[in-house]
Amino acid sequence: MSQTTQYPSTQLYIDGAWRAGARDTAVVNPATEGEIGRLALAGEQQLAEAAEAAGRGFKAWRKVSAFERSKLMRRAAQNLRDRAEEVATIMTMEQGKPLVEARIEVLGAADTIDWFAEEARRTYGRVIPARAENVRQIVTREPVGPVAAFTPWNFPINQAVRKVSAALAAGCSVVLKGPEETPASCAALVQAYIDAGLPAGVLNLVFGVPADVSKYLIAHPLIRKISFTGSTPVGKLLAAMAGEHMKRATMELGGHAPALVFADADIPRAAKLLAGAKFRNAGQVCISPTRFIVEESAYEEFTEHFVAATKKVKVGNGLEEGVQMGALANGRRLQAMERLVADAVEHGAKVLTGGERIGREGFFFAPTVLANVPLTARIMTEEPFGPIAPISTFKSYDEAIAEANRLPFGLAAYAYTRSSATSAAVGEDIESGMVSINHHGLGIPETPFGGVKESGYGSEGGSEAMEAYLVTKFVSEAR
Ligand code: NAD
Repeated sequence: MSQTTQYPSTQLYIDGAWRAGARDTAVVNPATEGEIGRLALAGEQQLAEAAEAAGRGFKAWRKVSAFERSKLMRRAAQNLRDRAEEVATIMTMEQGKPLVEARIEVLGAADTIDWFAEEARRTYGRVIPARAENVRQIVTREPVGPVAAFTPWNFPINQAVRKVSAALAAGCSVVLKGPEETPASCAALVQAYIDAGLPAGVLNLVFGVPADVSKYLIAHPLIRKISFTGSTPVGKLLAAMAGEHMKRATMELGGHAPALVFADADIPRAAKLLAGAKFRNAGQVCISPTRFIVEESAYEEFTEHFVAATKKVKVGNGLEEGVQMGALANGRRLQAMERLVADAVEHGAKVLTGGERIGREGFFFAPTVLANVPLTARIMTEEPFGPIAPISTFKSYDEAIAEANRLPFGLAAYAYTRSSATSAAVGEDIESGMVSINHHGLGIPETPFGGVKESGYGSEGGSEAMEAYLVTKFVSEAR
């Protein structure tokens, strides 16, 4: 860890300058609950200036060649790599995750920028054979326009970098509303772009009262595209507002990922990998495995290994060496965990390990495993977004798939089996935007990332991610 890193206060970045907001608020370290810095919050005046700056920024940026955009983006990626240690420390201070996870996030963000820098140069159109000899029919892809992007606190850089980089690669400008609880690492991403030479107005960063900011920006006539990552209820609200103004939207929303474990799987390995994935970022991950659904004959063996792995997770201040799970990012998550466990126990669940807050300072909650949780318990339908793993059983393949598809969510799903037939069937039968079988292989820049059903629409990874920021133009030209 960098012992010298001071947590910086964060301002708004509008039209090429860092500046104060209408007022400011505290930023809290979730591991200590102490104030570590201040954050500027935008009022309508600053939001108006940000939207107008993005309008001007778009006019300039869309004319910059894809080749030049790509080169600038690569410099931004390198800036992030050069600053990884400092930015990761800042992220851990404000978000709580272990330093090792923060480091992976920063370096992963640099990879994401590189990926979109490459894609920027491959935004091809096409020529359609015409019916008449003297006619040329051309299809081009154009940037949709200024984007309003809303990103949450669980991955302060990762959630923002996907939207910002795909938009910039396509030639769009951006007003990014970053996460108020974890602003400084998100600001470091913006700084990496600024230092790479991004012209004024192309990328603007604001913070504020989320509902006020989204209401203002979505309705603003200069904004042409909305992208949101967060919960399904808020996503529905913003999608409705986008619809009202006929604006395109990408929605990366909640999940409740089923993890199916078939009896023919390597059970100890499945338990170890699934526990590792569950407690990453203290379970505050939209693709976190959530319902552990195990074939009856393997239930005991799986549970034994899973509980053992859970008990080994070292919880503490993310800045400390060897810590594997940090504090939850805010007090709301802590209260939510306490409510979910109490509700499950009331409905007859058994706590196999954990189940309560750790200590009295900092938002620490013990990695928790629950058994015998009935479907009527809230945790079986609500996204827990925290370190709780309910384990249940299934008897047949059909029963497993029915349970996996029971909820309105469809973001990520996991399965463990040694049978290639089962593996292929699961890949087809699960209603989910992403399925990872026998390993955890989701969320890399070059692969699609997005959900179906109430988990949203649009992709934030792979070449599909560029689509969200492009419109199609058809030109028919007679000579
Ligand atoms: P929340 O639902 O109020 O907020 C979720 C995110 O949406 C936050 O970043 C918040 O700033 C933003 N938000 C809320 N209302 C908004 C509005 N009207 N306009 C624009 N943005 C708005 O609750 P929370 O306590 O911050 O998080 C709780 C739940 O949110 C979690 O249980 C989880 O389901 C979901 N969440 C999902 C992700 C994800 O990666 N998909 C990330 C963070 C939170």
